[in-house]
Amino acid sequence: MNTLKGLCASKGIGIGTAYVYVKPFITIENNIITNDQKETEINIFNNAIKKSSDEINNLISISKLDDQKHVLTAHLEILNDIALIDETINKINNDNFPSDRAFKETVDSFIAMFENIDDEYLKARGEDLKDVYVRAICNIKNIPFTDSLDTLEKDTIIISKDLTPSDTIKMDVDNVCALVSELGSKTSHTSIIANNLGIAALVGANDVCKHVKTSDVVIVDGFNGNIIINPDDETLSSYIKKRDEYLQHLKDLEKVKDLPATTLCGETLSVCANAGSVDECVKAFEQNASGIGLFRTEFIYMHSNHFPTEEEQFEIYKDVAKSSNGKYVKIRTLDIGGDKELPYYEFDEEENPFLGLRGIRLCLKLKDIFKVQLRAILRASAFGTIQIMLPMVISVNEILDTKKLIDEVKFDLDKENISYDKNIKVGIMIETPASVLNADELAKNSDFFSIGTNDLTQYILAVDRGNSNIANLYDTFHSAVLKSIKIVIDSAKKNNISCGMCGEFAGNDEATKLLLGMGLKEFSVSSSKVSQVKHTIRTNKISDCANIFNEYL
Ligand code: PEP
Ligand code: MG
Repeated sequence: MNTLKGLCASKGIGIGTAYVYVKPFITIENNIITNDQKETEINIFNNAIKKSSDEINNLISISKLDDQKHVLTAHLEILNDIALIDETINKINNDNFPSDRAFKETVDSFIAMFENIDDEYLKARGEDLKDVYVRAICNIKNIPFTDSLDTLEKDTIIISKDLTPSDTIKMDVDNVCALVSELGSKTSHTSIIANNLGIAALVGANDVCKHVKTSDVVIVDGFNGNIIINPDDETLSSYIKKRDEYLQHLKDLEKVKDLPATTLCGETLSVCANAGSVDECVKAFEQNASGIGLFRTEFIYMHSNHFPTEEEQFEIYKDVAKSSNGKYVKIRTLDIGGDKELPYYEFDEEENPFLGLRGIRLCLKLKDIFKVQLRAILRASAFGTIQIMLPMVISVNEILDTKKLIDEVKFDLDKENISYDKNIKVGIMIETPASVLNADELAKNSDFFSIGTNDLTQYILAVDRGNSNIANLYDTFHSAVLKSIKIVIDSAKKNNISCGMCGEFAGNDEATKLLLGMGLKEFSVSSSKVSQVKHTIRTNKISDCANIFNEYL
């Protein structure tokens, strides 16, 4: 028995037989070509891109999972990226490189560029490029691109150096119980797909391909990162028990889906979902979320090449409203600035962007652009229960200034005979120390609070939420953050307004009972966590949880 470690990328326990998946071995020589070979090499390259695109298109058409389709569509875009193609052809033309070498050197320089960017998302796009590279280079060199994961024995554990989305696309998923790879990150597409399939996955498992052989019996623990090779009988039977308990737990969660979030003491709470697109709202309501506790609108702006027009926004908010079937949706007004930029708007250089012109501050500066959004939201409010939520508030004036703009928009809509919800609720996110300390004054001017613990934690603790050097200090369980949360919940109660939480903490397994005891009534979490939170609520009494808060002080 031997135990290795990996990073947990998807929860679960897999017990099965290892299949060590080895990819084609590709060598690229450092040779150069003569001038009259250039045209042939360019043709080889162009044909390989075309063949690879056709193969990916074919995979898109047979793929059963939406996430896989998205990944493959992203692959198609990367493969046909004009910069990638031009740069490769330049290397053939100017450096006399053969097509394989030209393509490899271009891809290497692009990957290095992605890896130097301190952003998990872009790093993961570098992983996509590596994936696309293998397919295309096989086609350039006329090496068969292996698809050997399409027929597998029952309970197979796939061990690989770098398991890419293309590998998983044709995978015989019904027979796979876990994935382990030496490379990859927690946010890579493979992790996302493993999560969707509901199987355990570990990434960053150093040298796993060296230590595990095909046919070894392996246990993969997606909770603590252990990979146990050829376990003894005792370990094996204790893991079989753990796995079966976890599978039972998942079955229990399934049953909870259609039941209300009612505690054992009889109080029914709201378990909402966070969303950033119409698709995500649909997913949330499939999970029976009580509403959308946070609809992030910044993605609409970030995925556009211009400030989205009123009509463009209206169509989206209307679809969101319609998807909700009468349940409420809190649309958060544009929360940009900080680390979120727009390709078509030049932000001033700021020393401390997270303390700079972001959230409501920027909107109140760009009033015309803000009014376009408010008008689109108000118009959509005729199609469902929409509420307006303001981010990054620090003072009553910001609420009053926004309400003044809302009144101006309402006045125009009335004049134009356009319908909207005249009693639309306007609430705020509590994300700053100022909003905690002035919660009472803010409550008197708000219809609801929603605690944004992602930002609140960074501002209370003065710990940048994206800085990996101090990631160990970023802790929402810190007593100062918990005391802040308690002040806000109590203030909302005293002022008779509702209080939810839409930061990640609301979906943290270990925090649910604590928050229940602190008096939180609305949890807004990612769709995949709705049942889990509901399950915890349904199996507890609020009074039994009341003391947990004191244990953290
Ligand atoms: C938060 O800060 O908790 C929040 C929900 O907003 P975002 O993560 O979008 O900043
Ligand atoms: Mg925030």
